[in-house]
Amino acid sequence: MPSHVAAEPTDTVRRYGLFIGGTAEDPAGIASIRRQSPTDGSDLAEFAAGTSEDTRRAIAAARRAFDDGPWPRTSAMERARKLLRVAELMRADADRLAEIEAAESGKLLRYARGDVEGSAELFEYAAGLAMSSHGEAHTGLGEGCTALVVREPAGVAAMILPWNFPLLLLAQKLPFALAAGCTAVVKPSEFTSGTALELARIISAAGIPDGVVNVVTGYGADVGATLAESRDVDLLSFTGSTATGQAITKAAAATAKRLSMELGGKGANIVFDDADLDDALDGVLFGAFFNNGECCVAGARLLVQESIADEFVEQVVAATGRLRTGDPLDESTDVGPMIHGGHLEKVRGHIASAQAHGGTVVTPAEPAGGPDGGHFVTPTVVVGVHEDSPEFHQEIFGPVLTVTRFRDVDEAIRLANATEYGLSSSLWTKNIDRALTVAKALRSGRVWVNTTIDGGPQLPAGGMKQSGYGREMGIAGFEEFTELKSIQIREGKRTPAFPHASA
Ligand code: NAD
Repeated sequence: MPSHVAAEPTDTVRRYGLFIGGTAEDPAGIASIRRQSPTDGSDLAEFAAGTSEDTRRAIAAARRAFDDGPWPRTSAMERARKLLRVAELMRADADRLAEIEAAESGKLLRYARGDVEGSAELFEYAAGLAMSSHGEAHTGLGEGCTALVVREPAGVAAMILPWNFPLLLLAQKLPFALAAGCTAVVKPSEFTSGTALELARIISAAGIPDGVVNVVTGYGADVGATLAESRDVDLLSFTGSTATGQAITKAAAATAKRLSMELGGKGANIVFDDADLDDALDGVLFGAFFNNGECCVAGARLLVQESIADEFVEQVVAATGRLRTGDPLDESTDVGPMIHGGHLEKVRGHIASAQAHGGTVVTPAEPAGGPDGGHFVTPTVVVGVHEDSPEFHQEIFGPVLTVTRFRDVDEAIRLANATEYGLSSSLWTKNIDRALTVAKALRSGRVWVNTTIDGGPQLPAGGMKQSGYGREMGIAGFEEFTELKSIQIREGKRTPAFPHASA
């Protein structure tokens, strides 16, 4: 294990202070947030409850590092080298990072390992973008005039994150900001702050200068609101619920800072009668139950064509009944616990509401497996969920799949687009014309055909409608952290604007 990583084993309570100006601060004597395991209620970690004042210190450190520090002025080649080193150190620490991630979030350890690897790849991809970024030169503006369009780092970037992919979602923002030459203040979720703090230490060990990356743990009302209101923050990149995104938009309005909003979703998995039904079954299960159903791009709504609905839904129900809930660190578990008790109650409430609005739960009503004290929900399929049901529209964010039937392509498109969200959709068909027609008609930032919850660092992700705006990853994700400046140069004297004013 590299020496920069805190040495405590993951089976004792990890205690973290804030990470400001390159220093992991001492957590002693400051108010803390205790994170208990969603799996069995045991104590996992303590994070500092950062105050507004702490947040302002972190912003000041990032501001100094941007205004006076070397990072924005370092060559792109050097920035890329440091990002590649971060990826290397993440891989060296992959087991520990994955264990922390799985323990705090309740996601399966095997998916947490995938998140760590995916995060390292995002650092590598961003390194490539740092080196290939360039501007434009214009020579067509008339005699004696040359103009440049230069791409500059946008400044101090605040990043506010949710709990469902704590490291991966940070890696969808931070390496792109660093590649562009920005400095950052990161506010992870109060439930899952461990890996952001571990990453900050890794970043420091990789030689990225002090103050370039700062992490302030704590609550949204203190840390998050201070970031939104600060005039020293140039842009704020948020991932979380639509309601919080709206609150941040209001809080940030007086500063007119740039915002990027990655918000909620209510994805559809549309299965046509000409699909490969084995593939579609696998995709529908993955879409609904991957990451315990706590996934912004979940295929939470199955839209299935009437002609195959009975047979297909029977298979979905049978396969769902075979899924095992339990300890996410156990390799045989399929679905882990909900993030916390309040969320467990919310998911249960949605199941009851779906029934009250005419839906029928068709999965076995057995109690969920898993250790005592854990927040487990039995994977649930609710059929007959009508378009008027609240559960057709609202994020449930748990292992619950609603089923709605459609007759033809037009109805499938209409139902898929019928929610206020527009984050992602998947469709299953072997007809290329149908695939393209539907993909183009869907109002969502990502569309998957014969696959789901797929991707790569090259592909921009983001939402339409109430799922937000701005894009992460891809070239667009890098450009979010840059400003364009036009520089126009005239050779020699212009014709005077006011000839009478000339002597
Ligand atoms: P949340 O909105 O409750 O919290 C997200 C973050 O915002 C947390 O760090 C929280 O402390 C902070 N926050 C809360 N109130 C704030 C305020 N007033 N000002 C500033 N910050 C504040 O979301 P969550 O429950 O952590 O995550 C689940 C949500 O995230 C779901 O809606 C899900 O769809 C969404 N999500 C979206 C994407 C995407 O890419 N679009 C990805 C993952 C999750």
